[in-house]
Amino acid sequence: MPQPRHTIVYQHVSSPHLREWFAETLAAYPELLPHPIYLRKLPTKYSTMRAQPVFNLQFWRRATRHYRVDFSSHLEVTEHVRVRELPKEVVVGWFAHELGHIVDYLHRPWRGMIAFGLGYALWSRYMREAERRADTIAVDHGFGSEVIATKQYLMEHATLPDHYKKRLRKYYLSADEIEALVTAYEAHGEMPDIVEI
Ligand SMILES: [Zn+2]
Repeated sequence: MPQPRHTIVYQHVSSPHLREWFAETLAAYPELLPHPIYLRKLPTKYSTMRAQPVFNLQFWRRATRHYRVDFSSHLEVTEHVRVRELPKEVVVGWFAHELGHIVDYLHRPWRGMIAFGLGYALWSRYMREAERRADTIAVDHGFGSEVIATKQYLMEHATLPDHYKKRLRKYYLSADEIEALVTAYEAHGEMPDIVEI
């Protein structure tokens, strides 16, 4: 029996290995099978990756809602490095985190999505919890070492502006915290929904 495959729509993503790494990462998220997933490269210079529902007719129906991961070809954090020049582990960890956000959106009806958008924009605590949930879900799907590689890369990268590092420390799990999660996961075989360390 062939494995069921995700529906992926690439928008302006020409790099064959980015496409391949995205498809590989997505394959570990079977709960996203009913949802077409878009990967879009934006020409703009906005900061990082993001994951959002697609605002089309399906937006109103949770069961078949479409989702999109956006990235820019020149991430602010890697001024002199193009995304396609990043190590595979770092990119996969990043994709896994974004897909974690999408899993976190799955149970939300459209009103819940709008409330989520507002909460994320307005309350730093809400944002921090959402980021930590996305990391936790990525670890839960087997991407612990990749998520750690992404954080370490971002924290250690010489061209990373200080305000971005501060933001990472404030809102995201640290590499140590993720390692603790991976250990807990290996010991108990499953993750608690939200982990506050
Ligand atoms: Zn995030």
